[in-house]
Amino acid sequence: MTPQEFRQYGHATVDWIADYWERLESLPVAPDVEPGQVRSLLPARPPERGEPFESLLRDMDDIVVPGLLHWQHPRFFGYFPANTSGPAVLADLLSAGLGVQGMSWATGPACTEMEEHVLDWLVEILGLPDHFRSGSRGGGVIQDTASSALLVSLVAALQRAGKGAVRSDGVGARRYGIYVTAETHSSAVKAAVITGLGERTVRYVRTDPATLALDADHLRTLVLRDLADDITPLLAVATVGTTSTTAVDPVAAIGRVSREHGIWLHVDAAYAGVAAVCPELRWLNDGVAEYADSYCTNPHKWLLTNFDCDTFWVADRAWLTGALTILPEYLRNAPSESGLVTDYRNWQIPLGRRFRALKLWAVIRWYGVEGLRRHIREGVATAARLAEWIRADERFELTAPHPLSLVCFRLRTPPGTDADEAGRRLLDRVNASGTTFLTHSRIDGRITLRIATGGTFTRPHHVEQAWQCLVREADRLLASGLDQSHGRGAG
Ligand SMILES: *Cc1c(COP(=O)(O)O)cnc(C)c1O
Repeated sequence: MTPQEFRQYGHATVDWIADYWERLESLPVAPDVEPGQVRSLLPARPPERGEPFESLLRDMDDIVVPGLLHWQHPRFFGYFPANTSGPAVLADLLSAGLGVQGMSWATGPACTEMEEHVLDWLVEILGLPDHFRSGSRGGGVIQDTASSALLVSLVAALQRAGKGAVRSDGVGARRYGIYVTAETHSSAVKAAVITGLGERTVRYVRTDPATLALDADHLRTLVLRDLADDITPLLAVATVGTTSTTAVDPVAAIGRVSREHGIWLHVDAAYAGVAAVCPELRWLNDGVAEYADSYCTNPHKWLLTNFDCDTFWVADRAWLTGALTILPEYLRNAPSESGLVTDYRNWQIPLGRRFRALKLWAVIRWYGVEGLRRHIREGVATAARLAEWIRADERFELTAPHPLSLVCFRLRTPPGTDADEAGRRLLDRVNASGTTFLTHSRIDGRITLRIATGGTFTRPHHVEQAWQCLVREADRLLASGLDQSHGRGAG
């Protein structure tokens, strides 16, 4: 493709994206496709001869769009939002166009320094501690995901616990404990598996039944029990905004136990952390400055930056880079050896890395901090309003606190009916309507429905429409009777 052709099809592609965003609202949120249906529309063999770009864009309309769950739809309320935005997409295009690999400072000086700088900006914007800034003992890096952030935190924790021995000897014969709750993200267990520590290393600390937050007294009990069994307490994960319900673990209380016993404290604020851009939500950072060894939040969830962009900080980078530093001969260069520059390959799992700071830079510049605050506040305000409607409606009940932009609730069902089955059927009906998309989770063993606001294109009236859809489908479900014969059985 010549630069001239690129210009032509580039314009057409940007037009395509803008058209997609404009017509999103008229599309069903969730696709109506069977497994295998999309592949059946694709040619079995790759083309021998090149094809015109127009036919690719046509297939986007005919094959791809009908086969997608539309995460940017204004009435997508499932999981957590995966915000994208104009400035983020355009800057990601610039990154693709540059095609730079930023594994070392020398392989892309602007790539590295922009990342350090934008992460320092974010420290200021979110009110994070100064020791997270570049130029201090700590520092920040963009990881692909919060899952990777947790994995490298675990490796850094092993490095510290083994006084550097993990690098040469691996995990060794020592037995370790990792402390999470049933609400902690599954990436903690995955990290235990990947590092070879295994699932048996993971201890589940009790949660408070009302708030679902970690019980720090029980953490202390489990740690003391492990110590008595000659098991080394290694890593505690405190979640600020759990995936199921946005519960907030008591970081300071967990930090005190961790500090006392030399446990690495990782704070996972994947979804909620970015909300600290608002001064009234700064309490989300309580305990982080004093106790967190590592901390992450995902602008790719709720801060208008398209996937992937997890911002990750450590209080002392020596353990992380001590474990992960690699310098093969072909990457040797004078700046690296001078020690004056950051080589981000030593902060992450892969060697290669994209110029991801560009999209964050573009988002912060386009919206300004004020615009970021407005976005977070709208998500919080629409969720609060929705929660009020649910609280005031006798057909429903709230099932968890809603400090941010996620509301958990369930249908009230008559005694003797299967409440979980009713929840599943309501969810199926709402999602099959095509107008609104929700997901579910389990609290205390029971199905709960979740509505996460905070989408880039979601405005207050879309949340109102979702509420109307819920009420309509709940009425139909209740009118059809909730007897077990309609159930799908326990799936
Ligand atoms: C979404 C989420 C994650 C995982 O995010 P990825 O960036 O996709 O790995 C981890 N922790 C919490 C609390 C989350 O909500």
